[in-house]
Amino acid sequence: TRTPVNVTVTGAAGQIGYALLFRIASGQLLGADVPVRLRLLEIPQAVKAAEGTAMELEDAAFPLLTGIDIFDDPTPAFDGANVALLVGARPRTKGMERGDLLEANGGIFKPQGQAINAGAADDIKVLVVGNPANTNALIAQQNAPDVPAERFTAMTRLDHNRALAQLAKKAGVSVADIKKMTIWGNHSATQYPDVFHAEIGGKNAFETVNDREWLENDFIPTVAKRGAAIIEARGASSAASAASAAIDHVYTWVNGTAEGDWTSMAVPSDGSYGVPEGLISSFPVTCKDGRWEIVQGLEIDDFSRARIDASVNELAEERDAVRKLGLV
Ligand code: NDP
Repeated sequence: TRTPVNVTVTGAAGQIGYALLFRIASGQLLGADVPVRLRLLEIPQAVKAAEGTAMELEDAAFPLLTGIDIFDDPTPAFDGANVALLVGARPRTKGMERGDLLEANGGIFKPQGQAINAGAADDIKVLVVGNPANTNALIAQQNAPDVPAERFTAMTRLDHNRALAQLAKKAGVSVADIKKMTIWGNHSATQYPDVFHAEIGGKNAFETVNDREWLENDFIPTVAKRGAAIIEARGASSAASAASAAIDHVYTWVNGTAEGDWTSMAVPSDGSYGVPEGLISSFPVTCKDGRWEIVQGLEIDDFSRARIDASVNELAEERDAVRKLGLV
């Protein structure tokens, strides 16, 4: 039998955590033959709620779940971690400026980066879900100097999946018929979902749909503002779809992208497509043998260039702000 994989989840008692943990324990994160040990991190006030979730996980009698430990201190929580899902974050509250938000999250992601640096397993893979996800990932990464930089990623897979769903609906096809969707930039309202390189049944998606007015005034804003629309309809922010995307992100990273396809992940830039080196920005990536690689050589027209630049500029501003705060 295989040794269990240690999966650390922060914000485990939250909404996303509640949807996420059951899918991890059932084998959907890493594979149906991979046993997992869960390590849950919460703030002290939420430990009791995390214990309740752990009781439910126990009651689900998942054959692959070999243990659950709960912590309110990041150092033991990340000890031996092979996969870390950083979900807990400080949400923006009314009247809060961006600087305050970044500072509050620095107080969370800096010690978590340090704890990952101190004790995570050599093969640690980190996915940041908690917002502002890209910059939170940068803070954690910069505080984990002994961990290879490329192990820190942030989630744009939900945006990617939302883009697939919107395009499938427009084209009257199944999401399974669409390949090579791309989300560029920041996981924020400035993100740019790019259909110019996407394919439907092997043909160029934009040419197939052939509707620029839909692209500019419907598709792009619908994908970028979907989170707000869910809150409006559900009375709570998206949780199960976010958890599902987190599962997809890690599963793809570990098990690879399909031949002839790619996915979207926010990863440290190597300068590709003019994105300043080091920014954690979303790109089209392929995955193989547990490693990601940015897809090279795509042609970027002026329309796409302007949108990618706007989102990347926002990331650079966030980086400058956390630099000023001494967080990176
Ligand atoms: P959720 O579980 O709903 O959300 C958690 C984080 O995911 C938020 O930052 C949220 O950002 C983000 N997120 C990213 N993408 C999405 C998406 N598509 N839809 C919704 N959210 C998304 O929050 P809860 O308040 O229910 O739970 C958070 C938990 O984290 C609490 O239990 C809290 O105690 C815990 N926490 C733990 C910490 C730790 O372990 N050290 C630190 C801080 C909090 P956004 O707010 O922008 O929606």
